[in-house]
Amino acid sequence: MKLTWICDLDVTIGWQGVSVMMNIVAPAKESLFSGNRLASRAGAVCARRLIVAVHDAAPVFEAETETLNALAERITGRPPAMLVVPDHWKGGAIRQGDAFARRLRDWADRGAEIVLHGWSHRDEARHERRADRFRARHMTAGEGEFLGLSTEEARDRLTRGRDLLEDIIGQPVRAFVAPAWLYGEGARAALGECGFALAEDHMRVWNPATGQWLAGGPVISWASRSPGRIASSLLFARAAPILLARQELVRIALHPGDAHVPSLMRSIERTLTHFAQRRETVRYADL
Ligand SMILES: [Zn+2]
Repeated sequence: MKLTWICDLDVTIGWQGVSVMMNIVAPAKESLFSGNRLASRAGAVCARRLIVAVHDAAPVFEAETETLNALAERITGRPPAMLVVPDHWKGGAIRQGDAFARRLRDWADRGAEIVLHGWSHRDEARHERRADRFRARHMTAGEGEFLGLSTEEARDRLTRGRDLLEDIIGQPVRAFVAPAWLYGEGARAALGECGFALAEDHMRVWNPATGQWLAGGPVISWASRSPGRIASSLLFARAAPILLARQELVRIALHPGDAHVPSLMRSIERTLTHFAQRRETVRYADL
């Protein structure tokens, strides 16, 4: 019997927060690396790859987005993916022709992959399931917008968001990442209907239209919401080069709050440098 050790990560994310609980368990759950094994068989030699994404790109976080984009591009040599929120907390809408929209177009023209990241990023749904209420309240600080939406509401936000971003950048938008990486049943159904080619959560990247698994493995992310979360995310980033060395794809996610914490920025720079030196930086569309 093949015995595989896996790192089972429970990563809890808000836009400013992450708490990481790690349990090394064996033997492996079949699900985590099965996608990798399939991918390994598909490619004769597995090039190790890296995707860097700057989350929560929105007018309210323009300065932080600039800082994180510049850092990622300096280290990896290419602009990171940008996860754009069309109307962050319904108080900072991006409008065609405004200053942020023009900046967004510039980034896209320079090669940044533009990804739709919710509509408002704010979870206003009433959750029926106790587990969802717990996740919404305690794990994401009210940021899991797509956790409790109906299929109809999710479809409306997906199509409005995609239309807006495509009008602004003049290119197709094919990828979607739910705020806090949380998807409810309605969101999953709507994503498939809307024809998005890529979505991701904490542990995998998949094609919502076909259900095909494209990549697996945890996202490296940092938290700035509290000293405890900062400490836990620094710890995980320290361990990530060893824990994720054999992963075909490493994903690194940067959040606006990171830009205000010097220790996090040092950790991000160190982590990006480590993986960028050992891996090819690619886009979600390359998966
Ligand atoms: Zn976000």
